[in-house]
Amino acid sequence: MKTHARVVVIGGGVVGVSTLYHLAKKGWTDVVLLERAELTAGSTWHAAGLLPLFNMSYTVGQLHKYSVDLYKRLPDETGQDVSFHVTGNLRLATCRDRMDEYQKYCGTANTIGVPFQVIGPSQVRELWPLVELGDGAGTSKIIGALYHPDDGHIAPADLTMALRKGARARGAEIHEQTEVTAVRRTASGEWHLTTNQGDIVAEHVVCATGNYARQTGRLFGLNVPSIPVEHQYIVYDESPELKAYRQGGGRELAVLRESDQSYYLREERMGWILGPYEAGAPARFADGVPDWFGKSLFEGDLERLLPHIEAAQRRVPSLANCGIKDIVNGPIAYTPDGSPLIGPAWGARNLWLNEGHSFGITAAGGSGWQLAEWIVEGEPGIDMMAVDPRRYGPYTSKRYVVQKNEETYRNVFVIHYPDEERADARPAKTSPVYDKLKHLGAVFGQRYGWERANWFAPPGVDAKDRWSFRRSNYFEHVGNEARHLRRHVGMIDLTPFTKHEVTGAGAESWLDSLVANKVPTKIGRIALCHALTRRGGIRSEFTITKVADGHFYVVSSGAAERYDSDYLLEKLPQDGSVTLRNITMSRGCFVVAGPRSREVLAKLTDTPLDNAAFPWLTGQVAEVGLATDVYLLRVNFVGSLGWELHFPIEYAHHLFDALFAAGAEFDIRMAGMRAMESLRLEKSYRMWGSDLTPDYTPYEAGLDRFVRLGKGAFIGKEALERQLADGVPHRFITFEVHDVGDADPLGNEPLFDLKGNIIGRATAGYYGHALDKSLGLGYVKPEFAAAGGGLEIEILGERKRATVLIDSPYDPENKDLKA
Ligand SMILES: Cc1cc2nc3c(=O)[nH]c(=O)nc-3n(C[C@H](O)[C@H](O)[C@H](O)COP(=O)(O)OP(=O)(O)OC[C@H]3O[C@@H](n4cnc5c(N)ncnc54)[C@H](O)[C@@H]3O)c2cc1C
Repeated sequence: MKTHARVVVIGGGVVGVSTLYHLAKKGWTDVVLLERAELTAGSTWHAAGLLPLFNMSYTVGQLHKYSVDLYKRLPDETGQDVSFHVTGNLRLATCRDRMDEYQKYCGTANTIGVPFQVIGPSQVRELWPLVELGDGAGTSKIIGALYHPDDGHIAPADLTMALRKGARARGAEIHEQTEVTAVRRTASGEWHLTTNQGDIVAEHVVCATGNYARQTGRLFGLNVPSIPVEHQYIVYDESPELKAYRQGGGRELAVLRESDQSYYLREERMGWILGPYEAGAPARFADGVPDWFGKSLFEGDLERLLPHIEAAQRRVPSLANCGIKDIVNGPIAYTPDGSPLIGPAWGARNLWLNEGHSFGITAAGGSGWQLAEWIVEGEPGIDMMAVDPRRYGPYTSKRYVVQKNEETYRNVFVIHYPDEERADARPAKTSPVYDKLKHLGAVFGQRYGWERANWFAPPGVDAKDRWSFRRSNYFEHVGNEARHLRRHVGMIDLTPFTKHEVTGAGAESWLDSLVANKVPTKIGRIALCHALTRRGGIRSEFTITKVADGHFYVVSSGAAERYDSDYLLEKLPQDGSVTLRNITMSRGCFVVAGPRSREVLAKLTDTPLDNAAFPWLTGQVAEVGLATDVYLLRVNFVGSLGWELHFPIEYAHHLFDALFAAGAEFDIRMAGMRAMESLRLEKSYRMWGSDLTPDYTPYEAGLDRFVRLGKGAFIGKEALERQLADGVPHRFITFEVHDVGDADPLGNEPLFDLKGNIIGRATAGYYGHALDKSLGLGYVKPEFAAAGGGLEIEILGERKRATVLIDSPYDPENKDLKA
C-alpha cells in the first residue's frame, strides 16, 4: 500500500467505489480506497438492486437520474456487465391524494428531464397482466399509476465491480482487508490514517462506510446522524403463472410498487422479490456495528411482513401459489429525513462524507459524481443543500436519530404532503415561549430541530393540520393571520434565526470579502448580503447590521446554522484580527409588524421610532420594557412597517408578555410561518434555500441592487462579471396564477410558454391572502420575464394560465414599510 495519497476513500461499498471512480475520472488518479473486508461486504451485497427514479427532492432526483444514465453506459465503458434490467417501474395509486402526489412529483420530473407517464387502470393491466385492479371491496381499486419506463433493477455487486474496473483503469488503488482504526491530523494539516495493514497519509478523506458511519465519524470527532434500520425482503420460489406468462412471450414485468400498501414487488428468476417498508422495524447499531456482525444478516421477522404479504396477494393473487425461499433482513443506513449525507464534514477541513444512503444503489452514481466535483473543483455543480451533511446540527442526539430514522423508514411509502410534519422525537428544541404559543393555539412544525408555530387555531378550532396538496383546513386561519398583520399588527416568533457576532479590527474587510454587497460602513445601518459560490451562485444570505465599529451582527436562516457557521469559521482569518461567535442560542427574536407596530413598540421604549430617528434598514441597541441590550432592527420578512427585536434570551417571557399587553388595544395577534410565507410572496421576497440557491446568481435572482462589482474582490465576482458579459440565462419572476380551484403552486412546478415549451420552473408558491391572489415565484428565460407577459404552469396535472407581475406586487413602492 502507498504511504501517501491525494484522497483516501474509506469503505468499499457501491458508494465508496463510485466516489473513487468519479475522482479518477476527473483526473485525480492518486486515490486509494480502503475496505475492512472485501468490496460490497456491507449493505451492498444484499441489496435488492432497485433503481427508483421517483423522488420528491429536486436535488436527489437529479442524482438518481445521473446514476441511471451512468449505469446504462458503464458496461460499454468497462466491459463489465451490470445486469441492468430496464423493466420500467409502476407505482399504483388507490386514492386521490396519492394521484396528487404523483402529479406533484411530475412537476419535479419535468424540470429535471426524467421521462414518466401518468396512466389509467386499463394501461396498468396492459403493462402488468397479473395484477388485480380491485373492486373497492376486498381490494382497493387502482385509480391510476405513475410509470417510469427507464428504471428497473441492477445487480449491485456487478455494478460495484464495473465501477472498480473503471477506477482502476484510471490508476486508482483498492485495498481490501484494510481497516482504518485511528486518525490524526499531521502538523501540515493532512490526515494520517492508521490501518491494520500500515499507515497512509492523505490530503483528503472521504468516509463512505454505510452502517459504520457513526463509528467512522467518531474517529474524526464527529457525531454523524446516520443509524441503520432493519430492512427485509422476501425471495419467492418460481411462480407458475409468471413462468407461463414469460414463456408465452411476455416481457419482464415492471417493478411494481403499491405505495398505499407500502411494498415493492419485482421479478427474480421466474419468482418474486417482495420488499415492504414495515411499521416497527427497529434501528440497529446505534452505538456501532459489533465486530461479529461482518457480512451477517438479522433473523427474518415474518410477523412484521405478514400484512404486506397479504396485501400483495390481494393485488397479485398468483403470489399465493409461490413458496417463500428466503427472507433477507439487513441493516440499511438511514438519516432523520431519509436523504443521504453528501458533502463536507463540519469543522474538519478536507474531510468528506458520502454516508447515510438508504437508496445507495440508486444514489451511488450521482453522489460519487457530485462529491468528486466538490472535492476537485471546490464546489458541487448543482444545489446540494438537500443532502449537505451540515443541514443537521448538534441537536442530533442518539435517541433523536433512532426515533426519527425508525419513523422515516416506516414512512417511506406514505404520501409525502408538502405540508407534512412528522411527529416523532418532538418537541425537542423549543423557543422559551413555546408554551405561550401553544396556549394561543399554535400548530407546530419542525425545522432544524426547532419547533416553529406554523399557524394558530382560533378558539373552538381543532389545532391540527390536515395535510394536503391543496388548500386545507388551516387556509382560512392563515389568511386571517396574514390580513390581520397587514391591517393591524402581528407578532412572529423567529427565535430559531442563526445569529453570529463578528468583531475585531478586521471584521469589516473580512465580511466584505465574503459577500457581493457592501457591508454597512455606518453604525446602525443594515445590509442584505449574499455569499456566493465561485461560480457566482447564491450560497448564503446574511442580514448584516453594523452595531459599532468593529462589531457586526450577522443573521441568517435558522436552518443554515451549521452550514453558515462552518463556512464562516473555515474562512476566518488566522491572524486574530476577527473573532466569530455563534450566538444563535443566546438571543431570541420576535417580529412586530403591521401599521400599528410603531404604536405598540413606542409604549415600551424611549428610543424614538419615527422615520427621521429610526429609518427603514437601520438598527439600534435599545431598552424595551425591562429588557436591555435589545437589537431593534427596522427590517422584516413580511414587508409591512415593523421591527425585529433580537433580545438576550432571558428576556423572552418578559418581552412576549409586555408586547402583548402593550398591543392589546391594537388587537395584536400572533402569525405563524405559513402566514409569513404568504406575506413574503406578496413582496417577492426570495427565500434562501428555495428561491435563492447555488443554482442561480444574484443577477438571475433579480438581486442586482445587492451586488457591488466596483467594491473590490469577493468570492464569485469573476463569475458574475462573466455572466454579465455572456448574458444572464434566467430571470426571477413573480406571477399570478388564474382560475385556481383549490390548488395553489407550491414550488418545483414547470413553467411553459403559451406554445407549451418549458421555459423555467417555479421555486415557491402560495396564496397571497392580503392581495387575494394565487402567487408563484420562479425563474424563466429572460425573454419571458417582462411584467404583464403570459405563461402557463402545471399544477397537479392541470395547465393554468399565469401572468408575470411586477416585482413586489404588494406595496411595490414600499410605502407601508417606510410609513
Ligand atoms: C435488504 C436491503 C435491500 C436493499 N435494497 C436496495 C435497493 O433495491 N435499491 C437501493 O438503491 N438500495 C437498496 N438498499 C440500500 C443499499 O444496500 C445501501 O444504500 C447501499 O448498499 C449503501 O452502500 P454504501 O457503499 O454506502 O455502504 P456499504 O455497502 O455498507 O459499504 C460500506 C463499506 O465500508 C466498510 N467499512 C466500514 N468501516 C470501515 C473502516 N473503518 N475501514 C475500512 N472499511 C470500512 C464496510 O466494510 C463496508 O464494506 C437495500 C438495503 C437493504 C438492507
